[in-house]
Order: sequence, then C-alpha cells, then structure tokens
Amino acid sequence: MKKLIQGIVEFRRNVQKGYREAFGRLATGQSPDTLFVACSDSRVVPNLFASTNPGDLFVLRNVGNLIPPCGEHGVSTGDEAEAAALEFSVLDLRIKDIIVCGHSECGAMRALLDDRSKIATPNLRSWLRHGDPAVESWRGGQALDQALTEVNALSQLNVLQQMEHVKSYPLVRERVSAGTLGIHGWWFDIAHADVYAYEQEQGRFVVIDEDEAERILGRLTSLR
Ligand SMILES: [Zn+2]
Repeated sequence: MKKLIQGIVEFRRNVQKGYREAFGRLATGQSPDTLFVACSDSRVVPNLFASTNPGDLFVLRNVGNLIPPCGEHGVSTGDEAEAAALEFSVLDLRIKDIIVCGHSECGAMRALLDDRSKIATPNLRSWLRHGDPAVESWRGGQALDQALTEVNALSQLNVLQQMEHVKSYPLVRERVSAGTLGIHGWWFDIAHADVYAYEQEQGRFVVIDEDEAERILGRLTSLR
C-alpha cells in the first residue's frame, strides 16, 4: 500500500491540476459508451492498454472475468453484482458495447484446470463454477489456437463462454437483436502487452493492430 499512498501525493503534486477541468465536468455525470468486464488480476490494465481517460469505461472486474448466467425472470444464477452492473450500464447509462476481456496466465483458469473441487476456500471454489462450461469445451477438444498453452487456451474459450452468459440476460439479448448493443470478446497477452479481439468468421482471436482496429471500427459504423 506504500506505493499507493506515495502515488496519491505524486498525483496531487504533478498530475491533478491537468485533470481538474475534466473531473470538474465528470462530477456532473458520466456517459461511458462501453461496459468493460475484466479479471481482477493486477496485470490487466485497461486504462493503460486502451489509452482510456476517466469517464470512458464502466468497469466490472472479478476473479476470472466471469458473468453468472441468467436464470428465471432475468435474475442471476450467481451473486447479483455482475447482473446489477449489466442492468445499470445497459438501462441507465445506455452503453453501446460490452467487452469481455480475458488474459493470459490467468490464475482463475489455472485453478479450473487443476480441478476446482481442490480449492480450499468455499467462496472461490463455488464462484469459479461459472467457468465450468469453458472447461468442458476445452476438455471436449475445442481450441482456438493450437499454439497456446493449456491455461491460455482455456482463458480464450472462457471469454466466449462468458459472452454467452452476458447474452443470456433478456435485456442484453433484446438490444443485441435490435442492433443497438454489441458484445465483444477481447484477450490481453501479458508477456507482449498485446490485446486481441475475437473474430467470429475466423474463429480465433486476432491481435488489434491498425488493420484489425479498422475492421472493428468499420463494423461498428455499419451497425449504427
Ligand atoms: Zn485472471
């Protein structure tokens, strides 16, 4: 925590002044256009790798970037935090896109591979069940990129699985069908600090370089 406290002093001394106007404006309200779902892992830094500013992203982070699927009457089958973030961002903030972002070397994926039932703590053991369907896909031989390690292959499959969980909520499904909401799968490769996007037609994650960025942006403008 020492680094955090020193960082606040440093921010007040050198950075705060430059942000005063922006934060003054943001104090009256927020209008982010994207819900970003990511793992709590300290190495995943969306504000840095996507060069975003305060007010740009509505962020939901948890262990394994998991979304419990929807049960009856639009109610989550897991805890309520993830569904609440979906409801608030879609209905109140009227975000246009939801990005589920996994990452390489994810500890949650490692724990799933090692057998969830061996986890000693009850909450973590139970929480990771929302990743079980991804493990089943992986055990069934589904792989997006044969060159990936087991944990990274599972992590990419888990992104696709959690995108399905996001779509299991009627309020999301309705807007996706109407073309007013997009669901995207991203994956952060820690070792190279590269971000990948899932390309459905190619059935794989593609690094977001200038060409891929153009493809994604082209699709966004044709959609809306
Ligand atoms: Zn993780």
